[in-house]
Amino acid sequence: MVSRVIPVDLFDLVIFGATGDLAMRKILPALYRRDLAGQLPDGARIIGAARSDFTDASWRDELRRDLADCVPASLQEAGALDRFLNRLGYVPIDVRGEDGWRDLAARIRPKAIQAYYFSVGPDLFGDLARNLHAHGMNSETCRIVVEKPFGHDLSSARALNATLAAHFHEHQVYRIDHYLGKETVQNLMAVRFGNMLFEPLWNAQYVDHIQITVAETVGVAGRGEYYDKSGAVRDMVQNHMMQLLCLIAMEPPYAFEPDAVRDEKLKVIRALDPVAPDDIVRGQYGAANGFASYLEDVGNPDSHTESFIAIKAHVSSWRWKGTPFYLRTGKRLRARTSEIVVTFKDPPHSIFGPQEGQKSNVLAIRLQPNEGIKLKVTIKEPGPGGMRLIEVPLDMSFAEALGEGARDIADAYERLIMDVIRGNQTLFMRGDEVEAAWAWTDPIIAAWDAREDRPQLYDPGSSGPEDALMLMHRDGRRWREVKP
Ligand code: NAD
Repeated sequence: MVSRVIPVDLFDLVIFGATGDLAMRKILPALYRRDLAGQLPDGARIIGAARSDFTDASWRDELRRDLADCVPASLQEAGALDRFLNRLGYVPIDVRGEDGWRDLAARIRPKAIQAYYFSVGPDLFGDLARNLHAHGMNSETCRIVVEKPFGHDLSSARALNATLAAHFHEHQVYRIDHYLGKETVQNLMAVRFGNMLFEPLWNAQYVDHIQITVAETVGVAGRGEYYDKSGAVRDMVQNHMMQLLCLIAMEPPYAFEPDAVRDEKLKVIRALDPVAPDDIVRGQYGAANGFASYLEDVGNPDSHTESFIAIKAHVSSWRWKGTPFYLRTGKRLRARTSEIVVTFKDPPHSIFGPQEGQKSNVLAIRLQPNEGIKLKVTIKEPGPGGMRLIEVPLDMSFAEALGEGARDIADAYERLIMDVIRGNQTLFMRGDEVEAAWAWTDPIIAAWDAREDRPQLYDPGSSGPEDALMLMHRDGRRWREVKP
């Protein structure tokens, strides 16, 4: 099964911060892969803009070397690489300065779709928007792509929204959350709203609880300064995990269209109850198993910032009243895995009597690694030994189900950048969504600050602090094991 590739319209994509880590590791390789797949039309152009003093030719030379490290060898084809590099140009620009803007504006073709990717630090977003406007590059049809973090709290997010709104319409602003570009995340919507099977059961009457886990094995070394000001709640919960929760909990939108989907997500965020202090566990990794501690990694011996958080959340709606949502994310954990698990209630009565093998139905949606969806069901153990029940998985691992096609699954950035060019905002966050998410997280952070809360230590390679396990145990439930 090979996925169809429909070329997008002619575009000029400007990447501000083109020499940075994100551009090199994600954005440019994603564009190369789309080019390789035949999705970029002849004449589509990518213009790098950053402070370094490259010319078109010297940037291409640089990228020829660097892309070799960022693109798997199996995808490196000499002809395709040449074609891709020929699309590239470079304009030296200091976003805060005056130089370079005229040169850039002269390169932009009015007949092409214009997209401006803000792959620079958030402190530059305002200057960028103002300068694009001042130099006549905010045409009605252009788009801007804004990276996370989108604000640090509600008031800074509001201020940023207002700055962008002074220069661009909301339909031109693409706030990227790469979790929404993941194949399984979209499949979650296909599973929920493309089948009759699950939706009648998708509510508090039939669902016992939902777990969302985003576990990482890496620590914060390398980006410690940024991370120490954010912590897990700002870095993961307010954005990625909130988006996953929305897709799991939202009502069916009237159509798979940007505002229809985003209206429903917004309702979920607004229906979230404030979180009680007892329903939150914060953790910080200590030094063990050969790893340095969080405090060493960030170079701040007094840091109270959390590298782990577990939250029990409630969505107060007719559909979900009474079903808890347990969220958990952390660094330096046992395995790298992102998973959403929907645990259904037990059958009201077992006609087979007490049985070891009868377990709750579980729908596990795995975002990484090995994207796929697994449904655990109870069946009879084969053989003549009487009616003994066992649990078996109905496994929809994409790699197995789609065979060759699974290899064509686009990386999140590939899909999202193509959506920007197509003008489809469905998988991007609207300004009011981001603000509502901050409105929910701000009081959580304020409460810690007020009581000078200290995170609990946990060992690198563990599943997080003990109290996070207790958060579920006290409700008679268990986290799914963090495993690869
Ligand atoms: P980086 O520090 O590696 O790169 C920043 C880029 O901005 C460089 O190209 C630099 O030359 C350019 N730049 C800095 N100041 C400039 C100025 N005054 N004028 C013009 N260009 C300037 O940062 P990064 O990791 O690539 O991150 C870029 C953005 O993406 C940030 O907002 C970050 O939060 C976000 N982000 C990064 C990642 C990641 O994996 N790196 C993931 C998610 C979001």
